[in-house]
Amino acid sequence: MGEAVVTPLASVFDQDEKRLLQECIHCGFCLPTCPTYMENGKEMDSPRGRLYLMASVLNGNAPIDDAFREHVNLCLVCRACETACPSGVQFGHLMEITRSALAETKPPSFFEKQLLRKVLTSHGWLSTLFTLTRLYQKTGLQKLFSTRPFDFVVPSKLRTLQASLPPVPPQRFSTGDNTLYSAIGEKKGTVSLFTGCVMDHLYPHVHAATVRLLTWNGFDVNIPARQTCCGALHAHSGDTQTTSDLAQSNIDLFDNTVSEYIVINSAGCGAHLKSYSKYIEAELSSKIVDLSEFLARLEMKQMSNGRVLKVTYDEPCHLLHGQRVSAEPKSLLSQIPGVELVPLRGADHCCGSAGRYTITETEMSLELLERKMDAVVESGANILVTANPGCQIQLAWGVRRRRIEMEVLHLAQLLDRVYSSEPGYPTDPTAKEN
Ligand code: SF4
Ligand code: SF4
Repeated sequence: MGEAVVTPLASVFDQDEKRLLQECIHCGFCLPTCPTYMENGKEMDSPRGRLYLMASVLNGNAPIDDAFREHVNLCLVCRACETACPSGVQFGHLMEITRSALAETKPPSFFEKQLLRKVLTSHGWLSTLFTLTRLYQKTGLQKLFSTRPFDFVVPSKLRTLQASLPPVPPQRFSTGDNTLYSAIGEKKGTVSLFTGCVMDHLYPHVHAATVRLLTWNGFDVNIPARQTCCGALHAHSGDTQTTSDLAQSNIDLFDNTVSEYIVINSAGCGAHLKSYSKYIEAELSSKIVDLSEFLARLEMKQMSNGRVLKVTYDEPCHLLHGQRVSAEPKSLLSQIPGVELVPLRGADHCCGSAGRYTITETEMSLELLERKMDAVVESGANILVTANPGCQIQLAWGVRRRRIEMEVLHLAQLLDRVYSSEPGYPTDPTAKEN
């Protein structure tokens, strides 16, 4: 245990937030929904316990010490507790500001700071990082360093990271210029697509599928250049300054685009962009829609009968709890001819991805992933669908680890695949899987 530092949270909690904290009535309804509490049964790793700890530190009755940090850092910020809470406690927000206080008392390491502030905020740095990673994967170095003798040389966190990463595609989706893809047939409107940071590099084929779906269904799709990271990871890490800077930069960019909606195919980014008004004055939030919300409101073009598929859907926490979007993706899946949508036990429980949680809290992340994989096998599905890149990485890794015969797809990929046999369906933009 390190030395206790007596630093109250008073400097980061304003009056409203202090009031929010008091809204907890200690009823415990949130306990059975909390993945960390369900896993280890510790009260202090439950939402109620964490709120109690926050209040104790805020009131000066407890120090910010290593134990406090551990309970705070083990939280996934999945927000399942918010959905369960009858008092409307905004747990995610309280956790973010608590982490900002922790970041002040113990600043992140040099490496972490560079990753958050330099790499994630720059497509140049991301391109360099992913080009090197691709070389590492393609030249066989990854295989070599995954063998037993190197277990002693390669740090365990790095081994986890390299095992969980999907193959890096040769290029990212965005061209770096403003791009407009035209609607096919009668035009219904114009939307912008938020392409984000890591997703643009690791899942360009999901963005491509999204653009094809939207243009096929009558929308011009605008991809503004100079988009940057949404800032969700910075907010979860307590870096409020970079969070606000990124929010401002995206708002400036999207405020100048002529689109009725900003469509997002990443649940984590969508939940964060919808909450921009927490950080700065922003009208943007009302234009943000998840892809599934947007498509479910449309009269989508007919799909022909396809292959009979057994599909199951895992609900990304930031879509279900962060945006309260649940019926739409399932309704879209059940509209696909030939698809049998089978239930997934615990579909509303976090898969253990949660941003960089797989690296920072590997043990708990793997326990949650194993629990999820038990349910996935039980479902008997051939395809596991999600709607968030972080979940897609984690679930695909879980399927590989267990050698389960199953594809893990983004909702956009499955819909795109079904539409692709329709005459006239676009083949551009052509980003393909590696
Ligand atoms: S956000 Fe998730 S992990 Fe954190 S306390 Fe709430 S339910 Fe538990
Ligand atoms: S459900 Fe809400 S009010 Fe009840 S213990 Fe959990 S956070 Fe507190």
